[in-house]
Amino acid sequence: MLNLQGKKALVLGIANEYSIAWGIAQQLHQAGATLGVTYLPDEKDRFKQKVAQLTEPLHPELFLPCDVQKDEHISDLFQVVRERWGTLDVLVHCLAFVPKEGLEGDFSQISRAGFAQALDVSTYSLIALCRAAKPLFSPTASVITLTYLGGVRVVPNYNTAGVAKAALEACVRYLAYELGPQGVRVNAISAGPIKTLASSAVGGIRDMIQHVRQTAPLRRSVTQLEVGNTAAFLASDLASGITGQVIYVDAGYEIMGMTAPAD
Ligand code: NAD
Repeated sequence: MLNLQGKKALVLGIANEYSIAWGIAQQLHQAGATLGVTYLPDEKDRFKQKVAQLTEPLHPELFLPCDVQKDEHISDLFQVVRERWGTLDVLVHCLAFVPKEGLEGDFSQISRAGFAQALDVSTYSLIALCRAAKPLFSPTASVITLTYLGGVRVVPNYNTAGVAKAALEACVRYLAYELGPQGVRVNAISAGPIKTLASSAVGGIRDMIQHVRQTAPLRRSVTQLEVGNTAAFLASDLASGITGQVIYVDAGYEIMGMTAPAD
């Protein structure tokens, strides 16, 4: 039985009701986990209000700002986790940002600054969060991040995000090796395309989803809650032997070598 009773889970990356992190938070809560959630602060605190309202029914014990580009936000966040919880069982890294120039047109048009920002937010953040959480991780803790097929194959328009995801998947392996001796598992879920705020910036996302619906073995796309279910499994002791892996939740699309025309 999947049971997360007594586990304390910190979820980063909820922006709105379409967020994959929201699907994950709901399924962790349903399995009995105690939640902490963060939001991306901005001048008008738009995310703060939205995320507070959305997550209220899940009664998060922690509700904190975190811009992963700011070291002090990360250290403040884990200072509170230490004071309030003492230990951390589940860390969900479900966030990314790539400037528009890195998500359409020619791959090579990305600027140096745009590339650095994309890799900083989408990839380095996992390292920084794991380093800050390292002293707090419980002996069976689980770290979960989100990746996409564009990190291992060419998906038109995914461009710089693909490089960020390739590096993220490598980080998963190196972090799994570093944290393994203390019992901590680190895995990635590679989700099929889902319409969200972040994915809307990827050129042709609607066509990508449609293509998956027509050609994936299950002949459909996946939902945030399906990704959430896999995250709940990875967070649980049922997944105690799994680390350093990329698990596809994509209706089977990844196995296809050649996609057949729609039925
Ligand atoms: P989303 O827009 O709902 O979530 C992205 C989150 O990143 C937002 O909550 C945003 O606030 C956060 N974020 C951006 N910059 C940040 C920063 N500097 N500090 C802290 N947070 C920041 O979109 P989503 O699709 O749910 O994305 C979540 C994750 O899932 C991302 O890693 C994305 O690449 C991955 N993913 C998405 C899809 C898809 O098709 N939607 C598929 C596979 C993987």
